[in-house]
Amino acid sequence: MTVRTRFAPSPTGFLHIGGARTAYFNYLFARRHGGQYLLRIEDTDRQRSTPEAVRQILESLEWLDLSPDEPPVFQSTRTARHAEVAHALLAMGKAYLAYDTPEELQQMRERAIAEGRPPRYDGRWRDRDPAEAPPGVKPAIRLKAPREGETVVRDLVQGEVRVANAELDDMIILRSDGTPTYLHAVVVDDHDMGITHVIRGDDHLTNTFRQCQIYDAMGWHRPHFAHLPLIHGPDGTKLSKRHGAVSVLEFREQGYLPEAVCNYLLRLGWGHGDEEVVPRERAIRLFDLADVGRSPSRMDYAKLTHLNALYLRQADDERLVREVLERFARRGVLFGAEDAERVRLLMPELKLRAKTLEELAGSAVFLVTEGAPPMEPKAAALLTPEARARLADLAVFLNDAPWERKDLEAWLRDYAEVKGLRLGEIAQPLRAALTGSTQSPPIDAVLHALGRAEAMRRILAAAEGGAVPGPA
Ligand code: GLU
Repeated sequence: MTVRTRFAPSPTGFLHIGGARTAYFNYLFARRHGGQYLLRIEDTDRQRSTPEAVRQILESLEWLDLSPDEPPVFQSTRTARHAEVAHALLAMGKAYLAYDTPEELQQMRERAIAEGRPPRYDGRWRDRDPAEAPPGVKPAIRLKAPREGETVVRDLVQGEVRVANAELDDMIILRSDGTPTYLHAVVVDDHDMGITHVIRGDDHLTNTFRQCQIYDAMGWHRPHFAHLPLIHGPDGTKLSKRHGAVSVLEFREQGYLPEAVCNYLLRLGWGHGDEEVVPRERAIRLFDLADVGRSPSRMDYAKLTHLNALYLRQADDERLVREVLERFARRGVLFGAEDAERVRLLMPELKLRAKTLEELAGSAVFLVTEGAPPMEPKAAALLTPEARARLADLAVFLNDAPWERKDLEAWLRDYAEVKGLRLGEIAQPLRAALTGSTQSPPIDAVLHALGRAEAMRRILAAAEGGAVPGPA
């Protein structure tokens, strides 16, 4: 048997971080077993589904590198097939036509509530002759659900769950207007797509019993089920916007790397010892549904940020340069080829100090001649008259230095030694002059990245008390 899993979002809004985790688990399980991972867009609710939501879901999955192995299936294109299966059940005597009017159903519900019973369909058309049908009423098709015994599901995460069939009524599978109900559509689609493992949020656990009844009635093999506990906010309540970012694209916006997000989501509810950093290739080797916990997990933004910083350190420099330049463009920071080259040169140092791409971009802005931020007050305070005089002197000295990091470092040390100063006494005002800040990567790296001409311009501007590091 080839494992086939699917992620089946309803396109009624953005892709939520919980949905992304479901997608990742489906992906990992399929990869682990050499199978396929598919996507089904459940857009049967035409009122609430939007093309914009579909676009965002696909974009989110692409960003996470969780695009499906086959083109997505749109549930709305399959209604004829859903109807066909409903009619097949009817022909097999496993379903029946129910000619109830909305008023009758409403009365039935009210009576049940008044008598303190759960509102269930009483099965009044189950064995009735359709010849008795009232004129003008279009029938719905209802499943003839078993009334005795139990429906038992052996869930790969939740264990064995069961319900007495007497608790479940004869559900509608095809409405009187010919449209399929959601539970029915899901079963037909999962069957036709050859899904072997349904891995989804545990808010769908109760649907499973009814879905199993449809599989059983059709004589189809049930897939395996695995219901994942939901993700809660840090305070233990349902994760929502007031806790922080919840949509996948928001995390992208805030500067998280997709691989860090995936790693974090994996660790949320799944564990292999106490390994925190589990890159995708390793996750594929280790992933097992048996290691998924049964209780809800809590979103911990600080942990995600920590993990992101670790991935940033290891990320390819060129990729990070592209990300930073994109963020410059979005912030309206104008830059040219020379500025881009400076970002490139300093990237190995910058990436060690940032936790997100937003921070990384912020830490690189000073490199851009036109867009350099104004000097921080703490940095300005370092530029005393004495420090400025020293910077003027240092500029003359450094102007002859070969412009390589190790040479620059040696020249600064020599200069400090000759003047009888500690290196910090030179480096701090120099840093203020070059970066407008009291914190930056090592000063030799900054000098090197800025290049001789720009470094000189900034040092001299600071020496003269001009506004640095911007171009005045
Ligand atoms: N469309 C459902 C949702 O977005 C998922 C249904 C399923 O996975 O069976 O919650």
